[in-house]
Amino acid sequence: MNTNTIKSILFSIFCLSFLQIDAQDLHRKFADLPCMNKNFNTIVHVAVDSLNRDPVASEAFINEMLEETSEFFSPICLSFSACEINIIDDNYAYSNLQSAPLSLEARIDKMEALFHKPMRINIFVVDSIQDVECGLGRFEGIKTATDANVIIELNNCPDDRASQNLAHQLGHLFGLYDTYHEDHPPELVNGDNCEIAGDLICDTPADPYGRAIPIPDDTTTYALSYLRGCEFVFEALDPNEEYYQPDVGNIMSAYPCKCGFTREQYLKMAEVYFSSSVKQF
Ligand SMILES: [Zn+2]
Repeated sequence: MNTNTIKSILFSIFCLSFLQIDAQDLHRKFADLPCMNKNFNTIVHVAVDSLNRDPVASEAFINEMLEETSEFFSPICLSFSACEINIIDDNYAYSNLQSAPLSLEARIDKMEALFHKPMRINIFVVDSIQDVECGLGRFEGIKTATDANVIIELNNCPDDRASQNLAHQLGHLFGLYDTYHEDHPPELVNGDNCEIAGDLICDTPADPYGRAIPIPDDTTTYALSYLRGCEFVFEALDPNEEYYQPDVGNIMSAYPCKCGFTREQYLKMAEVYFSSSVKQF
């Protein structure tokens, strides 16, 4: 057994230990999924801290993160490796992205314009972004030559592993919405409106995160206030008076128990990739 196999087994155990139920539905090979047989040679940009100008993440950390993230995408034969690690050592302003004096959007645009390499997935690793939890992934960025960008925050995210956060942001790049996506109508627990509501994906249960708001508990982060461990304990009813039971292990959720994608999420990502005329290296 090689090191990668051992790492992969350990990671699966780590995942299962998170989820008492439903783990069998996530993170496994579904017989009918397309195999994309593709490794992305990503460019990873690492911010430096303002104190000593040390990179916020080491090369070993980045390679391990990419290996773990690749596990989540293995059912459709996608993987990610670091073709280049670029330390942003001439400017420490990028480790804690602030919304002043430039707006956050302008600052991020500037960072991307300065360092982004076209036709690649560009992963920016920063310490934190003001008022943004975990990071950002450009929706359907994979279909473009210049917007295949994700930013992950190492210190403003309840996920245990940076790989869970990166997988989530890459999910956006491949056209997935958050399971609680708020720009569409709320999804009903019975799933009747799943095609036009929430994340528009029908095998992800309705997720009330951010809509039905628990009483904030100041000893914990917002996402954790819906949970006990990785069990969803927040009692909220949908318009039909049914209790929500979201899948807290879904990578596109906000809960720090991310463990896998569903079959329909894999199909959606494959569809977005195959429909794109741009093919990233
Ligand atoms: Zn998201």
